Amino acid sequence: MHRYQPQNILIERGEENAPVVQRALQRLPQLPVRLVDRGFRPPAGGLADPFGAGKKTLLFTRNRSRFLEHCPAGTPGLVCCNYLVVSLISNCPMDCSYCFLQDYLANNPLLTVYTNVDELLGELAAVVDRQPWKQFRIGTGELSDSLALDPLLGFSAELVPFFAQRDNAVLELKTKTDCVEGLLELDSQGRTVVSWTITPAEIAEAEEHGTASFAERLDAARHVARAGYRLGFHFDPLIEYPDWQAGYGRTIERLFSAIDPRHVAWLSLGSLRLTPALRATMRRRFPHTRLLSGEQVRCADGKWRTFQPRRVKMYRTLSRWLRRAAPSVPVYMCMETAPVWEKVFGQAPSCDKDLARTILSPSLTDPAAIDAP
Ligand code: SF4
Repeated sequence: MHRYQPQNILIERGEENAPVVQRALQRLPQLPVRLVDRGFRPPAGGLADPFGAGKKTLLFTRNRSRFLEHCPAGTPGLVCCNYLVVSLISNCPMDCSYCFLQDYLANNPLLTVYTNVDELLGELAAVVDRQPWKQFRIGTGELSDSLALDPLLGFSAELVPFFAQRDNAVLELKTKTDCVEGLLELDSQGRTVVSWTITPAEIAEAEEHGTASFAERLDAARHVARAGYRLGFHFDPLIEYPDWQAGYGRTIERLFSAIDPRHVAWLSLGSLRLTPALRATMRRRFPHTRLLSGEQVRCADGKWRTFQPRRVKMYRTLSRWLRRAAPSVPVYMCMETAPVWEKVFGQAPSCDKDLARTILSPSLTDPAAIDAP
């Protein structure tokens, strides 16, 4: 796995002494550094691939909006699991062909790190601690990979202890890397789930540029499980390709021959979903991608997905295999409609709270009761 090396660093004036900036400067002593004004944007135009170029500049700035947001699955018409997201980083050093950030951050592509972590923790405490009767599931992997920059920024050392002290909140760190060294010495008290996107190795190699290989992800998962973390695995996006049954079958077999299901908090399935703008960007940035050649249709939320009967077949097949391999682990779908839930699982959750409870309750198993892998 390659560690991220930006080409230059920009720091908003006044943020030079923020702890995360100081940590990064110590770890990248040779790079050119420039102070910029609040709201800095790079000059537009002149670049063949502004999004790809943006990933090479690391910008430190304050976040002046709310950190805590509802996950976009809260879109009307989709079954929602009440997941919340916080973003300390915007954009990602890796470059998956299907990444929605290519479209979402097209006008603001610098790899941006927010310096006011203390304010994020204050905001989280205000929400979580005021509602001790409620269970929260909060992830950091919406606008970036949760761990890709951790060796440089060390955010996990601030987040994991915060969640370790709370009985009513679980942190999810979602990644496609093996950057887990910073987690191994922390005591998560079982309140952090480290999760990986799982794709058949042949698809990961072709479409998930710069990510850790499947074998490296599995190895990292075994390490964090041994350190007391619970695990999650997301088959999302599910890719339909000619050999998908063989590819996913092999992948699930390898996954559960390496990982004891008792360490797994949850498993999810989600179809590839692409906005029209993202499809156009993919064609331009990844002309050889195979992900635009399947049978895809435009859905009610405007996104293109695999034709419904075909994706229902994939969901049913994978959920059957996953339940056989890990019978007590909750399996849920991401960003799907109630009719699709009914076709796959026989029923849709009656409300988002029910689904959130189903996902969370078995995962609250005391990890100390589980043998090390
Ligand atoms: S790892 Fe995630 S955030 Fe990073 S490029 Fe891939 S899909 Fe996007």
